[in-house]
Amino acid sequence: MSDCCSQPGLMPVEVARATLLEDLTPVTRQEPLALIHACGRVLSEAVNSPENLPPCDNSAMDGYALRFADLASGEPLELIGHSFAGKPFDGQVNPGTCVRIMTGAALPAGADTVVMQEQVTTRGERVSIGGDVRPGDHIRRCGEDVRAGEELLARGARISVAHIALLAAAGIGEVSVLRQPVVALFSTGDELRQAGEPLGNGDIYDSNRSALLAALAKLDVQVIDLGILPDDKRVIRDNLTRAAREADAIITSGGVSVGDADYTREVLEEMGQIGFWKVAMKPGKPFAYGRLQGTPFFGLPGNPVSALITFQQLVVPALRLLQGGQWSAPIRLRAELRQPLKKKPGRTDFQRGSYRSDEAGNLLVEPVGSQGSHILSGLAGANCLIVLPREGGNVDAGEMVSIEPLASPFAP
Ligand code: AMP
Ligand code: MG
Repeated sequence: MSDCCSQPGLMPVEVARATLLEDLTPVTRQEPLALIHACGRVLSEAVNSPENLPPCDNSAMDGYALRFADLASGEPLELIGHSFAGKPFDGQVNPGTCVRIMTGAALPAGADTVVMQEQVTTRGERVSIGGDVRPGDHIRRCGEDVRAGEELLARGARISVAHIALLAAAGIGEVSVLRQPVVALFSTGDELRQAGEPLGNGDIYDSNRSALLAALAKLDVQVIDLGILPDDKRVIRDNLTRAAREADAIITSGGVSVGDADYTREVLEEMGQIGFWKVAMKPGKPFAYGRLQGTPFFGLPGNPVSALITFQQLVVPALRLLQGGQWSAPIRLRAELRQPLKKKPGRTDFQRGSYRSDEAGNLLVEPVGSQGSHILSGLAGANCLIVLPREGGNVDAGEMVSIEPLASPFAP
């Protein structure tokens, strides 16, 4: 850590992220959890399927199960029974016979083909088949999705809704997951008030903590909310000591830049091994990372847009790693810029944007509102970040730019 932090100038955001990820180790304790509560959690061991999926050959259509070879003669077949989903036909489809079958019903013994009912005319128990039929039509094969014993999900997979469907289909009701990391969070600033409190002259409401609490709730971590701390070294020291003892990670906002009341920075310097990074990103820049009694610490800038974008770009990947999962870079898309953008070379810009597609499917993007790091309405109206590379300058309308769609944890 000290190498990069002693570098003069600004640290590229990719370097800051890689340095964090290199420095962190995931939680290890496992716990069993009911599958329906496991969405978002990280598997502590691989899960193999105890079953074939589908568990047996079954019909993909409502129709008739028969022997393909019987169609050669063109003679009607004798209807000998029904196979419903969950109520299979117990007998055997012998030459010259067929069974009425519904979607999802087990294929009866002897049958090798299903003909859909639209191709069939019936008179009493006599069934005539018309149209094209190929051997094996409309049968979902036992194990064609997953074979018994096959790995369904690897260790470290973060369980999604689709994963839950897959595991449930294999009859799995409980999984072994890694415990959730505990994150301690506080805001600092004498000017900060809670909703419901009156604002004195110069006061503002604490928006960072509410937004971060909401984001953390979506990230599947446990949170110790330490509230708003005044710009008071003793109070900050006491809370950091508690946070380091009780949490797996500490996140704060405010007080890490170079102002006279930036006490978080001073206390951290006294108590821990902290690097104060000037990250080459806008918004952002002042960002503290380090360890307090072994516990990783993330000091976000106070400005609300800076706090949330540094959180998204640097802390979310770190939390993913702490959880035992992997962080994968968010998908970036190319979109045509509809308005010129001002930019100075030297920092990666994360401008708040709105993107959409035109009738031809081309992506178009424009900035939302003013780009100041205190302008929350712009962030609230954005559905993407326009990512302008570090060394680039102004961008003209009509140029192609990179966008990063804003999904969870910012999406509603
Ligand atoms: P600081 O990093 O403490 O110097 O704060 C930089 C700017 O962010 C100042 O304008 C602060 O009032 C503002 N700020 C700090 N913390 C918060 C917060 N939790 N919510 C909203 N604004 C904040
Ligand atoms: Mg402050």
